[in-house]
Amino acid sequence: MERTYIEDAGAHVGETILCKGWIDVRRDQGKLVFFDFRDMTGYIQGVILPNRAAEMAEAVKDARAETVVEVVGIINKRPERNVQTDKQNGDIEFEITGLTILNKAEVLPFEVNTDTKEINEETRLKHRYLDLRSARMQRNMRKRDQVQKFIRDYLHDEKFIEVETPILTKSTPEGARDYVVPSRLYPGNFYALPQSPQQYKQLLMTAGIERYFQFAKCMRDEDGRGDRQPEFTQLDMEMSFVDREAVMQLNEKLLIAIVQQLFPHKRIQQMPFPRISYKDAMEQYDNDRPDIREDKNDADLLAFCWVVDFPFFESTSKSDNPDAQGEWTYTHNPFSRPIEEHMESLMNKENVGDILTTQYDICLNGFEIGGGSIRNHSFEALSKVFELLGHSIETIESDFGHMLQAFKVGTPPHGGIAWGFDRLMMLLLDEANIREVMAFPKTGEGRDPMMNAPSTISDKQVEELHIVVKKPKQ
Ligand code: ASP
Repeated sequence: MERTYIEDAGAHVGETILCKGWIDVRRDQGKLVFFDFRDMTGYIQGVILPNRAAEMAEAVKDARAETVVEVVGIINKRPERNVQTDKQNGDIEFEITGLTILNKAEVLPFEVNTDTKEINEETRLKHRYLDLRSARMQRNMRKRDQVQKFIRDYLHDEKFIEVETPILTKSTPEGARDYVVPSRLYPGNFYALPQSPQQYKQLLMTAGIERYFQFAKCMRDEDGRGDRQPEFTQLDMEMSFVDREAVMQLNEKLLIAIVQQLFPHKRIQQMPFPRISYKDAMEQYDNDRPDIREDKNDADLLAFCWVVDFPFFESTSKSDNPDAQGEWTYTHNPFSRPIEEHMESLMNKENVGDILTTQYDICLNGFEIGGGSIRNHSFEALSKVFELLGHSIETIESDFGHMLQAFKVGTPPHGGIAWGFDRLMMLLLDEANIREVMAFPKTGEGRDPMMNAPSTISDKQVEELHIVVKKPKQ
């Protein structure tokens, strides 16, 4: 017999069907044994009637919650008075005629037929494969996939293509510490894991891709902070021949379409999204990701806004950027282009603190969910930025020579943006932190209690990598 998915059971009233899945709940009520079965499409209640109890006794004995089963039974309409309108398949019942255990489940470290939020998070992460079985986590994973599919389709219709960029790469100046990977073949040399695909996506513009996007893993070695993860997902985009307006318009339309199509119960406070200058945001809200919600008690209110006109440089004395070398450091992205009116100041290295960048950030309910800029695609102008940042000619050549070189061989004007995709999903799914929308996140302190990472490696591996491990301080 072919498998019927639980969501389709209602179409088989009066027929015998075969379902496969898990026992969600078992309830023994006198001579009747009730089960709620679950597969990836939903839930159905089944019952073993007393006349079949004897023949199924053996299988039923071990059929505790989370056991994997194959169930054959008849789909019956429920009498009117027993219909549960608030439940999936609440109008039918599955009269079990055969139950086969495909794999037993031991007693679980926690129950998964709850929302699991109340359970100790370390325990949830240690047994994440179980935690993900809960209805809320299933919803989060499936909704995340729907949004990703929607974005992929939408961007393809807009002539974008998805291009994968390397994970083993070279340090990029994104403002955080790099994760590094020692090279076995090149003793004493290291790859860095990308903090973002920034340089690759710009080089794809040189390469004539014109419209690029990628769901990109980004790695930043920052101190654990509740809502930060060592690795996270960006929706990364770059476009050639665009101005700031074009990038903002496209992203705004995409965000609106996601909400309207996939989260229709949510209300967008204002469209087009309001735009606030960095200066006004700081003056009015005292931060650069203002929460402009009219009513902060309304869970379904989405208040998007753009923040623009950021200062390009800030004095290093005020910055915590570990890359800062000279008197000035960049606020967002060294590859950004100043606004047109301030290009001359950059070229003359005048009024540096007043130069505004084309950076635009998109904020939602007080969170920055994305940011990007029009890039500095001319060799001379980008060199000026690096000079202002205090890089010597040698370091410019060794760290960014490839970018400068590329800009001499026909790089079109371009710009882009990256969304913090986990953060957006967290807000759309009303979750309190990004770990709830990631399949296998690390703890707030950057550990994976399930895989037990990070962990030590063998002496042989250490040897091969030409590194020496210092004994950790006790
Ligand atoms: N790469 C930048 C970031 O990760 C975003 C961008 O400018 O496109 O913040």
